[in-house]
Amino acid sequence: MTVKTEFTLTNTSSLNEPSQVTTGSNLGYCRYSVGDFVVTTISDGSVTFDISQLLLNITSEELDKILKKNALSKNFNMQVNQFLIQTQEKLILVDTGLGRGILPTTGYLIDNLAAAGYQPEQVDALLLTHMHGDHIGGLSVNGIATFPNASLYINEKELNYWLDKTNLANESDANNQRLFEYAPSMIEPYKRSEKLHLFVAGEQIVPGIRSCDSSGHTLGHTSYLVESQGEKLCIIGDIINVGPVQFENVRARMKGFDSDPKSAEKTRIKTFHEVSQDGTLIAATHLDFPGVGYLRQEHDIFVFTPLTNKSDDSVITL
Ligand SMILES: [Zn+2]
Repeated sequence: MTVKTEFTLTNTSSLNEPSQVTTGSNLGYCRYSVGDFVVTTISDGSVTFDISQLLLNITSEELDKILKKNALSKNFNMQVNQFLIQTQEKLILVDTGLGRGILPTTGYLIDNLAAAGYQPEQVDALLLTHMHGDHIGGLSVNGIATFPNASLYINEKELNYWLDKTNLANESDANNQRLFEYAPSMIEPYKRSEKLHLFVAGEQIVPGIRSCDSSGHTLGHTSYLVESQGEKLCIIGDIINVGPVQFENVRARMKGFDSDPKSAEKTRIKTFHEVSQDGTLIAATHLDFPGVGYLRQEHDIFVFTPLTNKSDDSVITL
């Protein structure tokens, strides 16, 4: 299998970035191929925070050991990656980042899409892994669709959860509580123009892209399996949030991140086993840019090899 990569750093000085930015980064885009499809990781930016205050199911000694091994500090830089897939027929974007104006270090999806050579009008289909704010924030601005020609595909279980306000009682997280207003408002322009399509996990969305149930992080969290010419890429969304830590300790989790922590853990372990056994490339929203690589199991831990690390001379041959 041959995977071609092309990396570009976008010049952030042209992106109206506030001068007071102290954390985060803007890494532009990264292009690679999966069979006949061209896939591009598009960065929305990143957020830095102290993970030692938020991680559960891990001792501080174990965390320190993992951070040291990976030359990381507890102030963890979490990327927000989106994945753009160009098939022979369609241009498909998976997730849309936080949108402009939420944080100074995020909201660069459209700028980086342009840097990669695409305009929002060219996107034919939008696929959501789930409806948390860092995945739906770029869908629309003040009731106007950012991607005017795109059909929006959402797992019906996921949408129905956020539409049903009786579920508010189960949400302890303040950000998630706000989603019961925010999520319906972000999808409204697509609904109005009859471009909203609901699906059941397992359905094919477009030729070469199939949805897969990966619930736990949210009730209808969905992964997407991209397949072309026998090559496979699984876009796993938020099955993992803190790569270096959760690859080594799959039971570690971020406080308040998962709606159903037990299911999220089960999904994480099942997915990691599957992709490490069959050699499927994985892509995740919050892994280090470009968020793509291979997983293998070594005893009771998983080891992630980023796509970039395998590259010599920008072409990877397996
Ligand atoms: Zn997320």
